[in-house]
Amino acid sequence: MAITKVFARQIFDSRGNPTVEVDLHTEKGLFRTQVPSGASTGVHEAVELRDGDKSAYMGKGVTKAVSNVNDIIAKALIESGLEVTQQKEIDDLLIKLDGTPNKGKLGANAILGVSMAVSEAGAAQKGVPLYQHLAEIAGVQAPFALPTPSFNVINGGSHAGNALAFQEFMILPTGAESFTEAMKMGSETYHHLKKVINKKYGIDATNVGDEGGFAPNVSGPEESLELLMEAIKSAGYEGKISIALDVASSEFYKDGKYDLDFKNENSDKSKWLSGEELAALYNSFIEKYPIVSIEDPFDQDDWEAWSHFTKNSQIQIVGDDLTVTNTSRIKTAIEKTACNGLLLKINQIGTISESIQAVQLSQSAGWAIMTSHRSGETESTYIADLAVALRTGEIKTGAPCRSERVAKYNRLLQIEEELGSNAFYSGTQGLSKGTTAPALKQ
Ligand code: PEP
Ligand code: MG
Repeated sequence: MAITKVFARQIFDSRGNPTVEVDLHTEKGLFRTQVPSGASTGVHEAVELRDGDKSAYMGKGVTKAVSNVNDIIAKALIESGLEVTQQKEIDDLLIKLDGTPNKGKLGANAILGVSMAVSEAGAAQKGVPLYQHLAEIAGVQAPFALPTPSFNVINGGSHAGNALAFQEFMILPTGAESFTEAMKMGSETYHHLKKVINKKYGIDATNVGDEGGFAPNVSGPEESLELLMEAIKSAGYEGKISIALDVASSEFYKDGKYDLDFKNENSDKSKWLSGEELAALYNSFIEKYPIVSIEDPFDQDDWEAWSHFTKNSQIQIVGDDLTVTNTSRIKTAIEKTACNGLLLKINQIGTISESIQAVQLSQSAGWAIMTSHRSGETESTYIADLAVALRTGEIKTGAPCRSERVAKYNRLLQIEEELGSNAFYSGTQGLSKGTTAPALKQ
């Protein structure tokens, strides 16, 4: 079925910043998608086109990206006569129309909205759920797997107004039997954490950050880990919930050192850590706490520190700013053994086909995949279907709080119910260094 109309508009994300929404029409109806946006973005990500006009939306308007959809992409797509099931051909056309290596002309935010909408229309044309259509495109065969959720329950870094440098402290219900049970464990622990924080720091400390996690003014990462342990224990899930960190360390890498006090203008330079000192800190945490995964432990271009740490580590090390869902960065990371897990963010690369290629390349190296939201999100549930389709063993989409986060988890509950015994819950299996990670068919 051909595309009859494509129309984009400017809407708002969960931080109140403009973002792109795309309407794509076929004879089957209207397919509408929304594009997310990061705060701790990697320098190697595809370009998110912003207007830059400081007199409107602090320069964050996306009217140029919207016009690129309405004036350039819409016409080219309709004239191409391509079917909505031809995802790869359409994505190739979008890449060619842009013509730059980083989607800097049309904007990855313009291109991604269209690419997502095409797949939604493709699923409708076949009369199948989005996850099934995406699995077919990627050549993934049954059984489907529900990802292990990684709930970001303490927010720091660039996502919160506290002093904490590490960006995300996450809990993973690896010991759950199903996704539904994982939600119960995550939600209960989240509420226990709220009580623990309230008791220690007062009610103000239970305000939430951009991803729905609490943002108490703790003194450092160890204090956050202690809070998590207390909450896990008080919820009764000791041994059944593991911990993951996203350090997002590119945010505080300065002059070759890591500044854990980067939100303080007068931070003491003599206390900044070298890569080795930071690695030693991680290792001390890994010894003491049930940490199964660390994302972006080092700066996006500090390859040596990554390789040294990953080669000597027994846990999952996830590339986000390092790999930016880009096959050429992933190739380098594989060659250097820089990490063993990929954070999958579709807006880092800008098309669904390239996102699938990034997953397949990572899987071929034995890496685990964690599908991810952005800190600026919308009501879209697309990534829930994507995680099931590509059998990414993990997903992180914030705390079990704030509707733009919970919408994705709720969609996964629906999918689990729909698939019944035709799907399994990933648990520890989806993790790097977990048991047998189910690989994608190449
Ligand atoms: C992340 O760093 O993994 C993240 C989700 O944050 P952002 O979207 O701000 O990059
Ligand atoms: Mg990250």
